[in-house]
Amino acid sequence: MGKAELTITEATTMFLYVAGRIQDSQDILTQADQAIGDGDHGVGMARGFAAVQAKLEASPPATVADLLKTTGMALLTSIGGASGVIFGTLFRGGARNLTGVAILNSETLSLMLTDGLAAVQERGKANPGDKTMVDALTPAAAKATEMAGASLGEALQAAAEAARLGMEATKDMVAATGKARALGPRSLGYADPGALSMYLILNFMAQYVTSAESLG
Ligand code: ADP
Ligand code: MG
Repeated sequence: MGKAELTITEATTMFLYVAGRIQDSQDILTQADQAIGDGDHGVGMARGFAAVQAKLEASPPATVADLLKTTGMALLTSIGGASGVIFGTLFRGGARNLTGVAILNSETLSLMLTDGLAAVQERGKANPGDKTMVDALTPAAAKATEMAGASLGEALQAAAEAARLGMEATKDMVAATGKARALGPRSLGYADPGALSMYLILNFMAQYVTSAESLG
């Protein structure tokens, strides 16, 4: 199920779709951060992805690396706070091994998530179990690597499901970093907002690719 691969033009359209859907998700991200943080995550992500949309529409990228770097820079410079750095680093770091690549397929996805995760951990020093977006991204990157060679749609669906389970698992974690750390055990029972964003990003990508197939 799902498209085997996307051209750079299609991949850019997918990112524009994700940007719109994340802006639509502002309220649930706000609620997630109100529970265990300062409540700014929804506004931040919506502002970040509005900036992504503006940048991609103004200057359509020629390669997957350009697409990821443009997205990462827009997030980094517009969100502010921890998630600007973290999600900006995810996309900028994900471009590391994709210079000149003009096709997004399951191999490209695996590199993007694996290199993005490494960059996020290098920058933010969070480990799995600390109750951050790393808890959604780590299983998603592992699943994408396992699925390299499958169609992009299948790989994205599997990676999004792994991210969802990782996000759900953060409910049983006590935050070890970020604003929720101050809550200690009171962060139990709530999903990490950044992990929710990570799941949503992959889920919207999967939605786009699987519906793009039915559009031909
Ligand atoms: P802030 O914490 O500055 O208010 P946001 O609310 O926008 O920023 O984002 C919080 C999210 O950022 C957390 O839910 C977590 O997933 C992510 N985050 C915070 N610190 C780290 C880190 N060191 N590594 C990875 N992700 C992090
Ligand atoms: Mg916050």
